[in-house]
Amino acid sequence: MKQVLRDVFLFLSKNKALTTLAKRYGLNMGASRFVAGETINAAMDVIKLLNDQDLVVTLDYLGEFVDNEVEANLRAKKICETIEAIANANLNSQVSLKLTSLGLDISEEIVLENLRMILLVAEHNNIFVTIDMEDFKRCQKTLDIYKELRKEFNGLGTVIQAYLYRSERDVGELIHYQSNLRLVKGAYKEPPEVAFPNKSDVDINYKKLIKQHLLNGYFTAIATHDDAIIEYTKRMVQAHKIPHDQFEFQMLYGIRPEKQLELVNEGYTMRVYVPFGADWYGYFMRRLAERPANVAFVMKGMFRR
Ligand SMILES: Cc1cc2nc3c(=O)[nH]c(=O)nc-3n(C[C@H](O)[C@H](O)[C@H](O)COP(=O)(O)OP(=O)(O)OC[C@H]3O[C@@H](n4cnc5c(N)ncnc54)[C@H](O)[C@@H]3O)c2cc1C
Repeated sequence: MKQVLRDVFLFLSKNKALTTLAKRYGLNMGASRFVAGETINAAMDVIKLLNDQDLVVTLDYLGEFVDNEVEANLRAKKICETIEAIANANLNSQVSLKLTSLGLDISEEIVLENLRMILLVAEHNNIFVTIDMEDFKRCQKTLDIYKELRKEFNGLGTVIQAYLYRSERDVGELIHYQSNLRLVKGAYKEPPEVAFPNKSDVDINYKKLIKQHLLNGYFTAIATHDDAIIEYTKRMVQAHKIPHDQFEFQMLYGIRPEKQLELVNEGYTMRVYVPFGADWYGYFMRRLAERPANVAFVMKGMFRR
């Protein structure tokens, strides 16, 4: 049943007509639990609340799978405005973005131009940028673009997904770029030809990647809500005397907020991934796919009047 629900929500996450409807009718269906709002101001308010609790943030202006140049360029400008708003408000937040929102599916030239513009503004404001990883089809292109721009910008990181067979090799290659990596399980629907179909194998690979990158000596963000992975990381950093400034935990806004604070109180850096903007539909569907309890929460919200 859980697998069927996951497949249904991942299928719905890419439905263009529903995305358009969701944008038109605004944040509802319970999505506001996971999304900070539709405007930059709403996002700034949420970051401030989190910073006040010693949680640091990475802010994502929601958007993906853009198929025209005008929209990709507008999105890039909006991300620049977002970076400036963070800096002007003196908030403790980085930025995350998806290359398909900047034109990855249109042309490499457009996405490079947009990302370079964003990175110049980010560098000027001393704000770190992470390129989220999307589906397998776009993984190689994403890594190629990351590698190209990493040579020009220090403040750039990316994401590696533990469910992909290729990830161990990718982490190995990324040493040459002194990469700041966020490690995740992976949120898209991928076939068994490219990704571990069993959750237990994903978890084993996740732990392997955490150890690999930390022992390579590079910054590692462990982005998970899974207690077993968090405990593994704590034991691993203690055993190998990894300094606290070489890693951090990350979780999504609205998920396990009590655990986020617990980790801060234990002295760990905890970064909350905060999405905002009108294009919340695909992100929200992936959160529903991850956890049936989220679906129950949403149903309660929809029918409560
Ligand atoms: C900061 C961040 C950034 C991300 N960036 C990307 C990205 O760029 N690309 C990508 O593909 N994916 C990304 N993801 C999503 C990621 O790949 C997973 O889909 C998502 O994090 C769910 O996996 P999990 O590691 O939390 O473990 P799961 O296997 O989903 O959950 C493990 C356990 O965590 C606990 N848990 C999970 N959710 C809850 C909850 N709501 N309440 C209580 N307990 C819960 C439960 O005990 C559950 O059994 C990101 C995730 C985070 C946190």
